Amino acid sequence: MSVNQDAFIEWIKNCAAVLKENKEYLTELDSAIGDADHGVNMDRGFSAVLTKLPEMEDKDIGTISKTVGMTLLSTVGGAGGPLYGTFFLQAGMKSAGKMELNLEDWAIAMRAALDGVVMRGKANLKDKTMVDALTPAVEVLENAVSDNVPMGQALKESASAAKEGMIATIPLVALKGRASYLGERSAGHQDPGCTSSYLILQAAADTWADK
Ligand code: ADP
Ligand code: MG
Repeated sequence: MSVNQDAFIEWIKNCAAVLKENKEYLTELDSAIGDADHGVNMDRGFSAVLTKLPEMEDKDIGTISKTVGMTLLSTVGGAGGPLYGTFFLQAGMKSAGKMELNLEDWAIAMRAALDGVVMRGKANLKDKTMVDALTPAVEVLENAVSDNVPMGQALKESASAAKEGMIATIPLVALKGRASYLGERSAGHQDPGCTSSYLILQAAADTWADK
């Protein structure tokens, strides 16, 4: 299977819907170890993205993803906005000119997206940031390419890996971002950014895997 630009746009729409549905939940998680704005931030950013999609219908996947990134950069404040902005911009650079992504293209785009987040935010694994969900998810995609795993299965396993990474942040003490100001008191709470990353990757699996 592969993902064409219509399917890519469908994923972005589903991200917007899922982030809206989970706005309160993400904000609740961020109120425990941050400033209670992550759900509002993600919803604001993806609502702005939705307004850009009608112009994107005949564009290549790289252009669509870069537009998502630029829109998030310009509409979302805090740490999350610029980090997700970078995520989609970098994925877009690797998909420049493409009208279709196969599993290898997707793995390459997601690796670039993760590397962009790490370059910008300087977080290491286990610092209790979105990197803890994205890293295992990208590793699953890369292994799936080497092992010739079908794309649908790889997408589902990648989302599951993100979920495990997200749950594994609960006991961690945050070392980056606002949650790190709490020190030891950040332990015992799930990272909000990992949660939105999981929702975004689960939306990819739900949108594409059984097509
Ligand atoms: P802010 O922390 O500025 O209020 P958000 O609430 O939108 O921004 O996003 C918080 C999330 O951003 C955190 O849960 C974490 O996953 C992620 N984050 C924060 N700092 C970093 C960083 N340096 N690198 C990667 N992710 C980070
Ligand atoms: Mg916040």
